[in-house]
Amino acid sequence: MVIVLERSIREDHKRRIRDFLEARGFRVREIVGEEETIFGAVGHLGIDLREVEVLQGVARVIPISKPYKLASRELQKDDSVLRVGPVKIGGRRIAVIAGPCSVEGKDEILEAAHMVRKSGAVMLRGGAYKPRTSPYAFQGLGVEGLRYLKEAGEATGMPVISEIVSPELIDEMIEYVDVLQVGARNMQNFELLKAIGSRNVPVMLKRGLCATIEEWLMAAEYLLAHGAENVVLCERGIRTFETYTRNTLDISSIPVVKTLSHLPVMVDPSHATGIRAKVPPVALAAVAAGADGLIVEVHPTPEEALSDGPQSLHPEQFERLMRDIEALAPVVEKELLRLPERHERVPAFAGVEATAAATEAEMLVAFQGERGAFSEQALLRYFHSDTVVPAPQPDFRSVFNAVLEGRCRYGIVPLENSLAGSIHENFDLLLQYPDLSIVGEVKIRIIHSLIGTPESSIEDVARVYSHPQGLAQCARFLDEHPQWERVPFYDTAGSVAHVAKLGERSVAAIANAEAAAVYKMKVLRDGIETNPQNYTRFALVARSEDSHVDRPSKASIVFATPDTPGALLSCMAVLSNRNLNLKKLESRPILGKPWQYMFYLDIALPSDPTPFEQAMQELAETAQDLRLLGKYRAG
Ligand code: PEP
Ligand code: MN
Repeated sequence: MVIVLERSIREDHKRRIRDFLEARGFRVREIVGEEETIFGAVGHLGIDLREVEVLQGVARVIPISKPYKLASRELQKDDSVLRVGPVKIGGRRIAVIAGPCSVEGKDEILEAAHMVRKSGAVMLRGGAYKPRTSPYAFQGLGVEGLRYLKEAGEATGMPVISEIVSPELIDEMIEYVDVLQVGARNMQNFELLKAIGSRNVPVMLKRGLCATIEEWLMAAEYLLAHGAENVVLCERGIRTFETYTRNTLDISSIPVVKTLSHLPVMVDPSHATGIRAKVPPVALAAVAAGADGLIVEVHPTPEEALSDGPQSLHPEQFERLMRDIEALAPVVEKELLRLPERHERVPAFAGVEATAAATEAEMLVAFQGERGAFSEQALLRYFHSDTVVPAPQPDFRSVFNAVLEGRCRYGIVPLENSLAGSIHENFDLLLQYPDLSIVGEVKIRIIHSLIGTPESSIEDVARVYSHPQGLAQCARFLDEHPQWERVPFYDTAGSVAHVAKLGERSVAAIANAEAAAVYKMKVLRDGIETNPQNYTRFALVARSEDSHVDRPSKASIVFATPDTPGALLSCMAVLSNRNLNLKKLESRPILGKPWQYMFYLDIALPSDPTPFEQAMQELAETAQDLRLLGKYRAG
């Protein structure tokens, strides 16, 4: 049964409910959801639900109608997410596991690991104990294979997964493997499931060759009932009368299981088809049907593979498949999960000195551009402190990556200019990095200066470099000097660095005056922007686990709407009914879905958090793909 707890339940009441249930032989699991906290209670004995309903702190009790309880969506409405190191499976991500069918040797698995990692795999597969149909076929390298697998995973920064075939092997396997795979042939090996469950190791449960969906979910229930908390399912094709393919991929099992269960569902297109050329189309179909990820066999030279060569992809085929998945992902409102690039230390782009402070990710704030850029000004303004270290990045995506990968604690990106409008790329990036949140906002006035070498004066100038925006925003001043050549450059502060390098009196740049100081250059004329009402608003982003802000005054959210008359209006009504003030509304095309749009909203937050929380709950039903981008203090 599901016991929904009152929002303000006292700890001692919670304890009493748990004791009450445990005394009657129930296993109790607490699940903290976005909307409510529940106890899932599973036991052998019947109980009158009213006995539980009357306990203090219980809001309501819901019986679970399905034979599988802990695996059921009735128990947990939100998707569960399996976490292993940097990898998350479930939710809005598509995670791809790849590697050879079996570990064949140290060099082979290392080569395979590098290849699949380069193409975007997030976990490495490789069997060491192989359940082969024939006792004469290659049976795997055993513990030696596990050792090589672990080494290859460590060398490439990927967790590893391998199949377990017997309960006796658990101790050995968990020394080397991050996720245990229960193969199709062992799906109903209940002693194995119980043993794995009781060790609470992350596990991927493949569907049995002839198992119904219910039998498969009951097998997952065994794992969960014995204590496993990290379980993913894997559809790998079932036996049918068809012989052309090795198995028949039950594609409809994906949406079916996703309705019945909160567990993530992976798909193995390799064992499903058994034919290399059929793997990519089936893999894409699985993603389109809602799979949370794929496990794909890839071999450096499939022709020489010791097992399952005919179904293993060549590395180039895998690379192509990953690109196709990336293009398809937004269509199903997901992102292809990528592992962070591996950097030994903070990159020294544009000469950030690797001072003692600069190696402290805590202090680093990523911004796009060269030293002296407006973004750097904005971050220094935000932090009012010289304890932060600005970390220049070549482009906006690198700012997001630097934060995601933990190289920088914060990143700052411009969202909107009062004259030029939104910086769309950053709106799109906010959506593409669901693990980052907006935690702050700052607005700065954009004042442009003409900057030359220390010896030059305005009369010497013949050529002016700047970002096209900088040139456009100073058009009136430049028009007074029609003989000057205007040269577009990728970045305003970068144009100052460039002019400093050229060292000629006849060249100048347009940027902010602080950039002149950074590069020891001279301001030839200050305040040359045509319109003094020129402001840019920046967002500060951090990793979501680091995103708590006290007393936020603004929230940014994003959603799509159903394609029906009045759909946006009904979403807006959710806000206006609660007297929530809309500060901004912007629409952006959805990548991969031509002529469909996401709506980005900024909302002023009153001091009482309740109206906004309620609005979000209601919006989750009214809108589609609702996401909170962040709650922060308005700048
Ligand atoms: C495997 O993944 O190598 C394997 C043997 O798969 P299955 O259990 O799905 O046949
Ligand atoms: Mn195989």
